[in-house]
Amino acid sequence: MRDHWLPSPGNNQHYVLGNVRIPPALSSLEPGSNGWCEADILIENGEIASVAPVGNMPATTVEYIDADKGILYSGLVDCHTHLDKAHVTAFTDFPPCNLLDAIAAMAENKKSWTAESLSARVEFSLKSAFASGVRAMRSHVDFNPDTSDFIWGVMSEFIQSYTGRVDLQLSPLANIVHFDEAEFCKRIYEVAAKQGVLGLFIYDQSDLQNRLTPIFEHANAQGWDIDLHVDEGLDASLDGLNAVAKVTLATKFTDKVLCGHCVALNSYDEERRKRVIDRSLEAGLHFVSLPVTNLYLQGRESNGLPQLRGMTPVGHLSDKGAVVSFGADNVRDGFCAFGEFDPMAVLNLGAQIGHLDEPGRDWAALVTKNPAHSMGLKWQGEITKDAPADLVLFSARSSGELSARGETPRVVIRNGCWLDEKLPDYRELNG
Ligand SMILES: [Zn+2]
Repeated sequence: MRDHWLPSPGNNQHYVLGNVRIPPALSSLEPGSNGWCEADILIENGEIASVAPVGNMPATTVEYIDADKGILYSGLVDCHTHLDKAHVTAFTDFPPCNLLDAIAAMAENKKSWTAESLSARVEFSLKSAFASGVRAMRSHVDFNPDTSDFIWGVMSEFIQSYTGRVDLQLSPLANIVHFDEAEFCKRIYEVAAKQGVLGLFIYDQSDLQNRLTPIFEHANAQGWDIDLHVDEGLDASLDGLNAVAKVTLATKFTDKVLCGHCVALNSYDEERRKRVIDRSLEAGLHFVSLPVTNLYLQGRESNGLPQLRGMTPVGHLSDKGAVVSFGADNVRDGFCAFGEFDPMAVLNLGAQIGHLDEPGRDWAALVTKNPAHSMGLKWQGEITKDAPADLVLFSARSSGELSARGETPRVVIRNGCWLDEKLPDYRELNG
């Protein structure tokens, strides 16, 4: 809970959360003339027992909490983060740099990590996410030939300890060149098998299709998802997404392939962009845009002169029917000194950069339903009868109010209960 502007139901497990505004993507009700689905929600024993248009809930004796047109989302989901690296800037200064320099700086920084310091940063990050209303998250975890064994051990413990609060998926992430070594493949495949997802970093490496093919064939046989960093740069010579689409089709890959970044699409000419996007859609690729890191890192080689920044063409891809999400990506690490595990902050910034109108109403799926789909979660986040009462209620009544202030006042509801969690103070990290 971040702000109670309403009377809380306390320990009451049976109440009506009334007069809320739900984005159409999260409701089966007909939107009104203002574009919102205005509803009363009956909550009973941790579940949504009934949803009715406002004023149409059958008479009941339970408490009615009037949300006064506050916006209601299902619990937030983030399908692309890097918990292992998060908040290292609390301990180390990183000079602003480009992507490849940031990779090198983080590799150097990692040598100083201990199980205790890693655990403290991950705990802080998950506490922040939970307080912000995140119910599920996927984190990449760097997996290189020199990665210390303790990192996976520490990260895996958080899957258990945060189950039911922030349901966590981990994706072992490696540069595709490391897969040239059979011994490395064996090691990362053992870890991926436990998680059911394999992460790949592809950029400008040679011979991408030939490198991707055996990895996709192996993952397909195992029934894993693949989660990629692809074309994280503005150079039109980057052709990773095209290679991924071709290999996905050629290997008849059946599970999900999630592509992060894909900002080079904007540098292509129209005909090439259409060809690559059409092929990606035919292959069923999912996309995740990481606007905070792209804004920080792209175009940095210019001695302080503002240059072009990378941005996934979110609106364009969505118009074509693609499943697109927003993710926090790097939070206070060598790749991005800014950020927070609050999907609403990412939505607000991403909507401004990507020219998405009415973000709170029309783009809610990017931080709820779409990442839930990409992660294969059991509940994709529609606020309907029998769904879990895992919700986020905002004091804002419109997209404008939702995005105007730096931090959006909200009540986080889990299993029907109003939470008391607050964002942790940074002194908990390095006080
Ligand atoms: Zn990333």
